[in-house]
Amino acid sequence: MVDAAPAAPDSAWEYAPAPESREIATIAPENGLFIDGEFAPAADGKQFTTVNPATEEPLARVAEAGRRDVDRAVAAARKAYEQTWGRMPGRDRAKYLYRIARAIQERAREFAVLESIDNGKPIKESRDVDVPLAAAHFFYHAGWADKLEHAGFGARPRPIGVAGQIIPWNFPLLMAAWKIAPALATGNTCVLKPAETTPLTALLLAEVIQQAGLPPGTVNVLTGDGRAGQALVGHRGVDKIAFTGSTEVGKEIQRAVAGTGTRLTLELGGKAANVVFDDAPLEGAIEGIVNGIFFNQGHVCCAGSRLLVQESIADALLDKLKRRLGTLRLGDPLDKNTDIGAINSREQLDKIEELAAAGEQEGAERWSPPCPLPAAGYWFAPTVFSGVSQSHRIAREEIFGPVLSVLTFRTPEEAVAKANNTPYGLSAGVWTDKGSRILWMTQRLRAGVIWANTYNRFDPASPFGGYRESGFGREGGRHGLAAYIDG
Ligand code: NDP
Repeated sequence: MVDAAPAAPDSAWEYAPAPESREIATIAPENGLFIDGEFAPAADGKQFTTVNPATEEPLARVAEAGRRDVDRAVAAARKAYEQTWGRMPGRDRAKYLYRIARAIQERAREFAVLESIDNGKPIKESRDVDVPLAAAHFFYHAGWADKLEHAGFGARPRPIGVAGQIIPWNFPLLMAAWKIAPALATGNTCVLKPAETTPLTALLLAEVIQQAGLPPGTVNVLTGDGRAGQALVGHRGVDKIAFTGSTEVGKEIQRAVAGTGTRLTLELGGKAANVVFDDAPLEGAIEGIVNGIFFNQGHVCCAGSRLLVQESIADALLDKLKRRLGTLRLGDPLDKNTDIGAINSREQLDKIEELAAAGEQEGAERWSPPCPLPAAGYWFAPTVFSGVSQSHRIAREEIFGPVLSVLTFRTPEEAVAKANNTPYGLSAGVWTDKGSRILWMTQRLRAGVIWANTYNRFDPASPFGGYRESGFGREGGRHGLAAYIDG
């Protein structure tokens, strides 16, 4: 493994600041739960504060849902399912979904700014990835709503009923869209529980849904912590649970619904291998590696967190990679030049720091480009570990941060064996010039999604999901509809 000295970027250009205007998003000081078409405080009046992770400044007080609120939301969703939404013809449901999609597009800047403030992700990512993809999911599923009888689920596909949907903080709006759009297209109603640290765009989406005129109760949003999620999972009025988050909580949910008849889909963690062969187009591979692990600060379940590089090109590749990392800009998420934003929470930062320290203790070599970190907020410099062996924790555990572990291989068989040496099975990447090798690899890699000569590409028409400890069920595409159809 190489021991290249940190390479300075070719040119040390300093960019002028290009901040997006924060004023585009109005944040109410107090935010209620969205139940039965109305915003209201929690039954017991409890609230929590959501903070800007880039500055630690409090952004707003948000209602904290308790059991009574979960009861009310599930009852509202049941009523809407039985009396309005569940009976509505697909062509009418489609109109509402199109309306939501268009409203997201119209308010795209507002959504992007709010997402970056509440989550810490760079504005160029929320603006160019999260928000357009969220709108695309509603457009795509609007297209399915009146064509379900042609989707291969029989002549009269039936919805499941009330869906409880629990989402994480890494893509707050996009995960809400991934959950809500297919559920509504197929005639189900929803109770969504966003993550505690990122409630604001889910509430803005609720506002859009209210303005789109969906029947009250069709979508309900319960802000709160894991206890609200737990109450939703345990609620007997819920017919289906869709969860995205950690494998640990996923397993807990699976145990909780076992034997109850509640349908379940789980999208959990990952430890993806991004495999680069010696015949790969190197410049493209470097961009794919950077995008694979440093996109969204590495808070991505399918992140290419294990780089497997063929030994013969390891030195050259690592050299180029370090040079490229020297050009990444870390800082204000609202600056349009920023590549790496803030870590979403103090807890997540602690976890990343702990695992990175374990990497050093276990003997891997740690490297980061020169990268001053802002004084306030939660930050972690892009980090590369070389000399990583398969037994190291940083090669086995999901770090969920901007940390890349580099391992080498000599033969394709060794690459497959190392790539599959994980309990997860969500995603993988293959970089090679040979189409035949791509096919050979994809037949052997145990992952739900495999990218070839690219990484982290998403499309609503393309099913996404894993197996083994990465969960089960698919989101997106025709396969994603199956998760919301009875039978
Ligand atoms: P969690 O799995 O704890 O959170 C995901 C969602 O589930 C949140 O809305 C959370 O609420 C809720 N939740 C928490 N506990 C329960 C429960 N017992 N029953 C039902 N819902 C619950 O992820 P964390 O945010 O704590 O992140 C921890 C680690 O998980 C990360 O470091 C990362 O490794 C991994 N992760 C993986 C993700 C993925 O997409 N695969 C996404 C997020 C995290 P609340 O936010 O209030 O805790």
